[in-house]
Amino acid sequence: MEEKEFEKYCQFIRVINGLISEHFEDQKEYIHCKEGCAHCCKNGEYPCSRMEFEFLKIGFMTLPIDTQQKIVNKIVQLKAEKSVFQGKKFIHECPFLLDDKCSIYRFRMIICRTFGLAYYEQSEDPEKPSTIKSPFCMEQGLNYSDVFDKETKTFSKEKFLKTGNKKEPVAYNLGLENLKSKFGKDIMNLDFGETKPLLDWL
Ligand code: SF4
Ligand code: SF4
Repeated sequence: MEEKEFEKYCQFIRVINGLISEHFEDQKEYIHCKEGCAHCCKNGEYPCSRMEFEFLKIGFMTLPIDTQQKIVNKIVQLKAEKSVFQGKKFIHECPFLLDDKCSIYRFRMIICRTFGLAYYEQSEDPEKPSTIKSPFCMEQGLNYSDVFDKETKTFSKEKFLKTGNKKEPVAYNLGLENLKSKFGKDIMNLDFGETKPLLDWL
């Protein structure tokens, strides 16, 4: 990653971090994230663009050699497991998760920063309503579990009233493509490059 690109990407990360932090603060009554809770780093494919991967590599290079080695061992094992799946979706633990903590936290991908918030992606067809996507940990009694209605895939007013919370739950337009195009491509002219599952970069 060239220095100029690195600086622009860091600026982009600062902008989205600010926005995402505001949303987490706004939704704090529905959020159960805490240190050591790492279900979201154990069940995914982790879509990652070329630029995010370049940034992540910088973080990896800052780690002590023995930590790097642990990660490399995990990658080798995961790639062997993935080869059996032959092109099918391979849900796995992220190789950068060590002892339930992210080893490259400051350099993590965009999806890792937004995970935990309910969101929607604007439908390309204006006639079609956008459905709310809740984090999967809602199923485990975590984020939004007390207000999300699985049948209708939206927030339940009835459930909200039962919580006694002051602030209604909100789903934000936090789709990866929206974040990248709105703040990265359009404003900072960043070229994120191809996006693919994290393991395919490794
Ligand atoms: S998003 Fe869900 S699984 Fe991830 S840290 Fe928060 S509560 Fe835990
Ligand atoms: S990069 Fe870090 S935050 Fe993202 S999935 Fe991996 S361990 Fe979790």
